[in-house]
Amino acid sequence: MAIYNPKSLKAEEFINHEEILETIKYAEENKHNVALIDEILEKARPKKVGAGLSCGGLSHREASVLLACDIPEKNEEIKNIAEEIKLAFYGNRIVMFAPLYLSNYCVNGCVYCPYHIKNKHIARKKLTQEEIKQEVIALQDMGHKRLAIEAGEDPVNNPLEYILESIKTIYSIKHKNGAIRRVNVNIAATTVENYRRLAEAGIGTYILFQETYHKESYLKLHPTGPKHDYDYHTEAMDRAMEGGIDDVGLGVLFGLELYQYEFAGLLMHAEHLEAVHGVGPHTISVPRIKRADDIDPNVFDNSIPDEMFEKIIACIRLAVPYTGMIISTRESEEVRGRALRLGISQISGASRTSVGGYTEEERPHDSEQFDVSDQRTLDEVVRWLMEMGHIPSFCTACYREGRTGDRFMTLCKNGQILNCCHPNALMTLHEYLEDYASDETKKIGYELIAKELEKIPNEKVKTLAKEYIEKMDKGERDFRF
Ligand code: SAM
Repeated sequence: MAIYNPKSLKAEEFINHEEILETIKYAEENKHNVALIDEILEKARPKKVGAGLSCGGLSHREASVLLACDIPEKNEEIKNIAEEIKLAFYGNRIVMFAPLYLSNYCVNGCVYCPYHIKNKHIARKKLTQEEIKQEVIALQDMGHKRLAIEAGEDPVNNPLEYILESIKTIYSIKHKNGAIRRVNVNIAATTVENYRRLAEAGIGTYILFQETYHKESYLKLHPTGPKHDYDYHTEAMDRAMEGGIDDVGLGVLFGLELYQYEFAGLLMHAEHLEAVHGVGPHTISVPRIKRADDIDPNVFDNSIPDEMFEKIIACIRLAVPYTGMIISTRESEEVRGRALRLGISQISGASRTSVGGYTEEERPHDSEQFDVSDQRTLDEVVRWLMEMGHIPSFCTACYREGRTGDRFMTLCKNGQILNCCHPNALMTLHEYLEDYASDETKKIGYELIAKELEKIPNEKVKTLAKEYIEKMDKGERDFRF
């Protein structure tokens, strides 16, 4: 039997099955232990330290107790602390991005994914470099600056060379005032050497969902193909970091396994990265299974109701306060609206999950990865965010200034967000409004920016941000702190 060891590089030791089962048992036993729950909540609350703020974060065991707790007042407190942490470390900024599907060729047999090799009725497509250019122009014309590229695993059709060439193409396209300034990458687990090549290509975050941390289920859910190898998949983030990728993004596909198991596994994975590499995950995504071609989500019996889904988000926020959290258009406007309050810091907008989807007028279904619940335009999402008091941000400055990995965390911990991320968000929002927004969105946006500029504590930064915005009105672009 493997022994739990967060510092080990072996999957079965850092995602230790027995430790997860013990954690779930401990959480069940303590779910009414008010003294312990209060102690955990106190630890999670942000505290003033010098000029900045600090947050203890929680261990997987502590966070699992909160997740199990069913005392209504305590659950309300969890949500309030989640909101407090979100505002303390991220402010009211919400970073915007869009996925770009390059190819749905895939040799794996993942039973929840329509790209699985046995699916003969889905249209298989792979974008040429010219088609990528057209897709990127369409995305730039909406106002997007940050993409997450997606591809199935197929060493013949989508080798790493194809991914690298596509990244180069994406970064090279300057159309009107548009540019993609950060390309995040969501492709299958690969070798240290390949991660090194991705790092050299200037990618932002490397994203890989674990799908499920439960090994036995994982093996059944991935019956064939290279993804069947649980250890290789689970140890991918260590190889990515060894290859020089500073920012990695975790996630599980909720609905495949018991959420309590996934929750503990996800946090153990974050603890492992922190213990070994000195920096936790840059982001955590929270996808839930959706209907798709050849996929009926009802056959997976671990689906979670919205209320529990939102509680999971809040508990993740308490456990890893410095990790960004992403919610996609898999979720509806209503769920996304509530989740934003609980700690989400990044959302996608106007997503198409089909290969070549952005250049087609109608939403195409033939190569879609899953049904999109939130089908609004980017302009509508931006306006909606601002009406709720959030600042939609198109900022990519940290990555471009080399503030990745622990350097970004330091900025967070030193309370410099209001002097750095806040003005950057306002400037990129201004840029978006100038170049892409409807009149109605512009009106709300300019008022919001004027109000939010006053919140910048450092007078010099405030004056400079205002000067930059004036320059943008005269046509200049791309200012950042
Ligand atoms: N091929 C890559 C890999 O092996 O990790 C990742 C790319 S895949 C396009 C991105 C993610 O979509 C997967 O990791 C999975 O979690 C998610 N996904 C697959 N099928 C889904 C479904 N039916 N509903 C929601 N999300 C799904």
